[in-house]
Amino acid sequence: MKYSIRIEKSTSSRLSQIDFNNIPFGRTFSDHLFAADYKNGEWTDLRIVPFEPFLIHPGSMVLHYGQSIFEGMKASKNQDGQAMLLRPEMHARRFNLSAARMSMPDVPEALFLQALHAIVSIDSDWIPPQEGSALYLRPLMFANDEFIGVHSSENYRFLIMTGPVGPYYPKPIRLWAERQYVRAVKGGTGEAKAAGNYAGSLLPAKLAAQKGFDQVMWMDAHEFKYIQEAGTMNIFFVIDGKVVTPATDGAILKGITRDSILHILKDKGYTVEERPVSIDEIIAAYYAGTLQEAFGTGTAAIVSHIAEIGSDELLMQLPPIDQRPVGELIKSEINGLRSGRIVDTRGWVVPVDGGRWTVDDGR
Ligand SMILES: *Cc1c(COP(=O)(O)O)cnc(C)c1O
Repeated sequence: MKYSIRIEKSTSSRLSQIDFNNIPFGRTFSDHLFAADYKNGEWTDLRIVPFEPFLIHPGSMVLHYGQSIFEGMKASKNQDGQAMLLRPEMHARRFNLSAARMSMPDVPEALFLQALHAIVSIDSDWIPPQEGSALYLRPLMFANDEFIGVHSSENYRFLIMTGPVGPYYPKPIRLWAERQYVRAVKGGTGEAKAAGNYAGSLLPAKLAAQKGFDQVMWMDAHEFKYIQEAGTMNIFFVIDGKVVTPATDGAILKGITRDSILHILKDKGYTVEERPVSIDEIIAAYYAGTLQEAFGTGTAAIVSHIAEIGSDELLMQLPPIDQRPVGELIKSEINGLRSGRIVDTRGWVVPVDGGRWTVDDGR
């Protein structure tokens, strides 16, 4: 099924003001915005419009009760200049899992994907060409009833905004093993990319920063024993040549990068284990000298090496970055798939196809 999307092009592009070699993350937005409104049980008024602020009613439910979800993904260009998406349907599905958990309506997968193809094609000149650079895509849905009172909203807005991001060379991070605050609990909203999860993580992150740490290492909410995530990333360890990551348990966000890494490493013959990972196991491996690597994973950075893990009792200092073959391999594989340097054998790379969407001038 093809949806009809009204297109209103911006009359003056801001692209010439952008230096692709120096793009501050998250502050630069492309020329256009996709938007649709959910009313009377249907997505209506699908449109691509010039990117600009819009009005919102002070009673809009999202501002009061936080019904809001998002996705984070990237479009890149291959060596021939063709725009590509990586596993877009996984993001469409996760968006709807988040929506279901937050009692929000589905965005039909075909609509989500068509909107992505449409907005990326229209602003494809905004995709930086260098390997490792990308156009960051931010789908967002929020409750928009103009009503004070707790219930599931009946009106929603779905947006996709985009903005270029430079090659991300994150410096190795220092993690604080958090034993006072939690990010998520089983039965909670940790598996949803829901706005409120991030609001709740800000205070612990600030307190960790005051102690000199970059991110919080989240522990399970029941025993503060099992490791869950690193900040807003999934977490991997390499112990004695084996790659270990916490099994998703209802509180851990099911990262698509995490899933891709599991496939890539298995294909390359690594032993990969998804299971509960206790802090005691990591400390034991550290003292035994078998803790070889630790890294966070997510769409933005792909791999963020972990330099140190601290707690009240102990500061673990991990091997130097030039001794991190697994993390570096993953970065190279995923960036290589995005740039076309590595041939995609799994059907993950999807060329952006402007022909998949319908132009409708609204008349
Ligand atoms: C988005 C996110 C991740 C990473 O997911 P990707 O699909 O790999 O980008 C991990 N943890 C949290 C809490 C997240 O919000």
